[in-house]
Amino acid sequence: MDDTVIFVICAIIAGIIYFVPTIIATRRDHSNMVAIFLLNLLLGWSFLGWLAALIWSVSRTNPKDKAPAPTKAEAVVRCPYCAENIQALAIKCKHCGSNLSRTPQNQPGEANG
Ligand SMILES: [Zn+2]
Repeated sequence: MDDTVIFVICAIIAGIIYFVPTIIATRRDHSNMVAIFLLNLLLGWSFLGWLAALIWSVSRTNPKDKAPAPTKAEAVVRCPYCAENIQALAIKCKHCGSNLSRTPQNQPGEANG
């Protein structure tokens, strides 16, 4: 086998290994794909730059993938005085400042005398 062929094959393999961080970022649909590519391209020749790009590519994925689900359902009710939307647990309207008569059951707010 010719030495040139071996050299070309080695160069292709080295190129693939060199751009592994970019490939990983692309396949994971990373949100900072372009930045990882630039870091990989410009600083990949130094081992630290290549390692940083690799770690970055596997670290954080697109935030849309794991968007925080709306677990805390913030119930909204209407203020009877100003008809603005306020939180159901509110005891005072933030829009008009009216004290809402209904109080949560667990809250010891009513004092006698
Ligand atoms: Zn109000």
